[in-house]
Amino acid sequence: MATIGFIGLGNMGGPMAANLLKAQHRIAGYDVVGAAIEALAEKGGHAAAGIAQAAAAGDVVITMLPAGPQVRDVYLGPDGVLAHARPGALLIDCSTIDVETARAVAAAAAEKGLQMLDAPVSGGTIGAAAATLTFMIGGDAAAFARAEPILAAMGRTIVHAGPSGSGQSAKICNNMILAASMIAVCEGFALAEKLGLPAQTLFDIASKSTSQCWAMTNYCPVPGPVPAAPSNRDYAPGFTAANMLKDLRLAQQAAGATGAATPLGAAAANLYQLYVDGGGGPRDFSGIMRFLRREEPGSGSSPANETKI
Ligand code: NAD
Repeated sequence: MATIGFIGLGNMGGPMAANLLKAQHRIAGYDVVGAAIEALAEKGGHAAAGIAQAAAAGDVVITMLPAGPQVRDVYLGPDGVLAHARPGALLIDCSTIDVETARAVAAAAAEKGLQMLDAPVSGGTIGAAAATLTFMIGGDAAAFARAEPILAAMGRTIVHAGPSGSGQSAKICNNMILAASMIAVCEGFALAEKLGLPAQTLFDIASKSTSQCWAMTNYCPVPGPVPAAPSNRDYAPGFTAANMLKDLRLAQQAAGATGAATPLGAAAANLYQLYVDGGGGPRDFSGIMRFLRREEPGSGSSPANETKI
């Protein structure tokens, strides 16, 4: 079993590190939020005093951070992972970040003789808790082979997508599809409500019909049909709307740079921008249901479906 430094113990990193402990790995965990480290320590992890100590703890370092700037800081800072990792350590960044940062940090790691993978995930907090995440990996094949048995303790599907940055490319495409499908599901349930059709009835029909999708059957944005979904706990995240907006912006940047046509992706980015501007950023991304119902602060008096997107 490996000793692993784990940095970033939030909504995803916390349960992922817990699953590594369950698989008998030793974890030295660190987060800027003390309560997150304490929660890991209660499950049997070691509380690291900082990034440097977590990075030096083992032959594998895993990070699960909000976005590119935090990944640069944590890896490239003077007290960061690259300065303190053991020689030959394997570095695995599971955060969703821009392809450019993923490649730049991996190149800086390679200069120090360290293998690094971008390994973003899909499956949400439910998948993180159940160890059923999908990992999409960018980096070289030898590093992938080293990482696979460790990632298997946290996920069910582990795919080598290609060279450095390929995992992030797959992730932003996946999340652009997810955002558009979540909004479509919300709109369907909002319309059903206006038509007097109960949410459970629409769910029973649509979840077995052609509109069936993950956003509906695993993460239903109306309370009731899927008990584990954030809609049942007042849209506590889960996956925050702020992080979904971040991913949609990354997708739009990539679409702009490559000339890909993504009109629904652009509309989804605009709607999430409005939801976040109205105060929805810390809520789960499925909380955009409330924006469409005009319940969220900042949605204003004009109906969301009349908003220029
Ligand atoms: P989160 O905000 O809950 O967790 C991030 C953690 O990183 C926080 O606990 C924060 O305190 C910590 N952190 C920030 N800066 C740090 C630093 N310098 N040093 C140490 N710790 C630091 O976010 P999350 O929902 O766990 O998401 C993490 C990443 O995974 C994001 O990139 C997100 O887009 C991606 N993701 C999230 C989900 C989801 O459903 N939540 C699903 C797939 C991918």
